[in-house]
Amino acid sequence: MDPTEGWHDTPAFSGSCQCGALRYDVTAGPAFASICHCRMCQRATGSPFAALLKVASARVSWHGMPAVFDSSSLAERGFCAACGTPMFYRQKGTEWIKITSGSMPPEVPFRPTQQWGIEGRHDWLAGLAIPGAETVERDVISHQGAFN
Ligand SMILES: [Zn+2]
Repeated sequence: MDPTEGWHDTPAFSGSCQCGALRYDVTAGPAFASICHCRMCQRATGSPFAALLKVASARVSWHGMPAVFDSSSLAERGFCAACGTPMFYRQKGTEWIKITSGSMPPEVPFRPTQQWGIEGRHDWLAGLAIPGAETVERDVISHQGAFN
């Protein structure tokens, strides 16, 4: 797979949680939009799937301190401690962060070109015309509660 495939340039934008206590600014640059159906993303977002925009962490500045849940051996999840809005997914030890699309302003283009974790995909979403792949992190140790 072409490593540049699916990347597109986004303008600078600012986003926020539902209550406004946690905000961020992202500078203009390349981004990759995807969705993930895995059980950890479903639970972390309380949704059928997570919709995430991948950008370099260095391009994001925060106003307010995100709360962070150490969701697995691979990744952590940031959210607003005041209102609970999921704000990001961050793979440990990388320079990337994935911002939740729902925290972004509607004028920022969000067109997913990849779907991950299709092993967890709901049947009613099976017709999505976006290339899909199973979760690649097979050896991840989940820190979620036991009630899956
Ligand atoms: Zn909030």
